[in-house]
Amino acid sequence: MRQETKYIIIHCSATRPSQDIGFEEINKWHRQKGWNGCGYHFIIKRNGIIEDGRPTDAIGSHCRGYNHNSVGICMVGGVSEDDHTIAEDNFEGDQWSSLKTLVEELHEKYPEAEIKGHYHFNPDKQCPSFDVDDWAKTELLWILNGRTDLKYLEDNGVKYWRADYERSGRTDETLGPVYGKQWRDFNGVDQLFNLVKGIKQEPNSRRLIVSAWAPHEMNDMALPPCHFAFQVFINDGKMDLMWHQRSADVFLGLPYDIAMYGLLLEMLAKGAGLKANNLIGNLGDCHLYNNHFEQAEEYISRKPYALPWLRLKNGLHILPHRNQDGWTEELHIPEPSDIYLQCYTSHPAIPAPLSVEN
Ligand SMILES: [Zn+2]
Repeated sequence: MRQETKYIIIHCSATRPSQDIGFEEINKWHRQKGWNGCGYHFIIKRNGIIEDGRPTDAIGSHCRGYNHNSVGICMVGGVSEDDHTIAEDNFEGDQWSSLKTLVEELHEKYPEAEIKGHYHFNPDKQCPSFDVDDWAKTELLWILNGRTDLKYLEDNGVKYWRADYERSGRTDETLGPVYGKQWRDFNGVDQLFNLVKGIKQEPNSRRLIVSAWAPHEMNDMALPPCHFAFQVFINDGKMDLMWHQRSADVFLGLPYDIAMYGLLLEMLAKGAGLKANNLIGNLGDCHLYNNHFEQAEEYISRKPYALPWLRLKNGLHILPHRNQDGWTEELHIPEPSDIYLQCYTSHPAIPAPLSVEN
């Protein structure tokens, strides 16, 4: 019996897309290797059917050195039809949704377990032929925590704010009273706290709004807010979020804004026990710069990969907090480790020059 489960490890069978195999074949192959039958705990067939391998509580045989503390899942496929030595993300939509369901169930059962690909433990392997890694969520957490400094961003790999900072003439290594300051302290008002509380207390309110447009502090900001306000609307257990943006650099900037508000919607919904529904962007001055045309053509010519999925351990919610004066309430902001983007596969990045007149 396995005593602990630190990892959920995803593999591929390294078979061609046309090979419709499952437990039976893998069991036979693993026996031929001299193992005690199929080494994985689960197999996800090409049609999305999940087959059981070893009992979940038994020690598997799928990842050397980590079998005693992991569960192994095998996605059938993962090499090219023409050349079986070439790793290829060629899994079917049904397989992705089964993987999602299975990983969510396993996560309920083993909440501490991290989700990894075989390649994390054996760098010689490309298994399972897709990227299982987490994804950055730095800028939203920076805002939610009320921060305005460059250090946090740059320590976490977000470097594009330095140019605006330098142009602004500021010398204190902050961007001035920008997003985080206004969301958490707009003339002393913690708008985000009020929003999260309002969502709970008055979900039908038409005032669930946060604004970063602070005319009295505009001159101190490295850049006036681009996305300057958002509103939450709740109906029938579902939450919509609409944000407003005065200017949108469609190729470079907008994808970040969509991802950021999408994540914010998920965090607010999760914290309130609601379902995240529509994400609505209200975009003023939408522009594609002349020097982004080629990149945009390249971008739209590409075929999208299967969508990743977001796994949030915690959302935004209010917690009771005790200090020297007694009980108060505190806004809980998720930690970076609470947020996982799973199975995110992307095409290579398309470089484009950042325009400054924003
Ligand atoms: Zn593997």
